[in-house]
This record gives sequence, structure tokens and C-alpha cells, in this order.
Amino acid sequence: MAKFIFLGPPGAGKGTQSAIVAQEMNLAHISTGEILRSAVDHKTSLGLEAQGFMARGELVPDALVLNLVKERLESLNGSPGWILDGFPRNTFQAQALDQLLQEIGQESDRAINLDVPDEVLIQRLLGRGRQDDTETVIRTRLRVYREQTAPLIAFYHDRHHLISVSGDSTVETVTQRLKFALTQSLETA
Ligand code: AMP
Repeated sequence: MAKFIFLGPPGAGKGTQSAIVAQEMNLAHISTGEILRSAVDHKTSLGLEAQGFMARGELVPDALVLNLVKERLESLNGSPGWILDGFPRNTFQAQALDQLLQEIGQESDRAINLDVPDEVLIQRLLGRGRQDDTETVIRTRLRVYREQTAPLIAFYHDRHHLISVSGDSTVETVTQRLKFALTQSLETA
């Protein structure tokens, strides 16, 4: 089983890259952002609870996200592995993930930090046109990232668990870098 956590600021290309890499390496792609956006579109109770936080660029309450990750991980029978994209987003979620994985007898292999300079992030986000990509909301999302999610880089680094990959290139180049880094990490695990 290959199990990876993708970290990185909004606009780093996490979603795009994790979808491509998951498909090419035959892994399940679990994106909490995508699951939540779909819940909002379908007006499910999860969506209704989540939509205000998402529209403001804030994190959705931990309990909501933890439940949906738990369901996804438990229903992945037979998949040769997974990529978690956009989860965990804070230290509480990272600790809850450890506990959840322990309960289901799994362990993550590596956390991947997709590294992109701030000025590139803002350009990319402004050009993307998603509903939560207005300038005010982008500013909130970058602040939330810095305050709550960036500390996870040290969290995983301290466990010798972190790989940093530069995301400041074309989609194809970054995909090649990621596949190389992931494959190599599995060989040396
Ligand atoms: P993303 O597609 O990963 O950028 O996520 C879009 C939005 O969904 C975020 O701005 C949050 O409001 C929400 N979200 C996604 N993942 C999480 C998470 N792990 N914890 C809390 N909120 C999340």
C-alpha cells in the first residue's frame, strides 16, 4: 500500500497534481475540498453546514471533515493505496488522522509538501475563478494556511516523514518530480 498526504498552500497545485499522480499510480484520490464542494452543490446536510466556512475561506469544523475522511478510508477495500489531498489542515486533524489510521491498521508513508513562492500562488489563485477565489477570500485562505496548516510541515518533518517538491514549474514537470519522489520514497521505505 502506498499512502501519501499532500500538503501545500492554496494555489500550489495540490488538487491538480494529486489527481494526476493518483490516477497514474493507481491510488485512491481523497480530496476533502472536492467532497465538500460536491456536498455544497447537492445541498446535503454536510454541504449546508460547510458552505459558510468555505465561502469565507475558513476551515470547516474538524468533526465534519474527520467523519468524511473516516468513511472514505474505511470504504477503500482493495485499493492499493491513497493520496489525501487537503487533509489534514491543522495539528488537531493530523493527530486525529494518526489515531484513525491506527484504528484501521494503517500508517501513512510520506507527507509531500508542494512548495510554491507566495507571489506565484496569488497569481494562480486570481486566475482560477473558483467561487472562493475572490481577493478577500484568497487573503483569508492564505492566512489560515500560514496559521493552521503550515505548522504541519514541521510536524511531519520531525517524524522524518516529509518530502518537499518544488511546484513552481509546468504541470507536467511537477508531475514528473512528484512521481519520482513518491516512487523513490516507497523503495527506500
Ligand atoms: P481546498 O479545495 O482543499 O482548497 O478546500 C476548499 C475549502 O474547503 C477550504 O477553504 C475549507 O473551507 C474547506 N476544507 C477543505 N479541506 C478541509 C479540511 N481538511 N479541514 C477543514 N476545512 C477544509
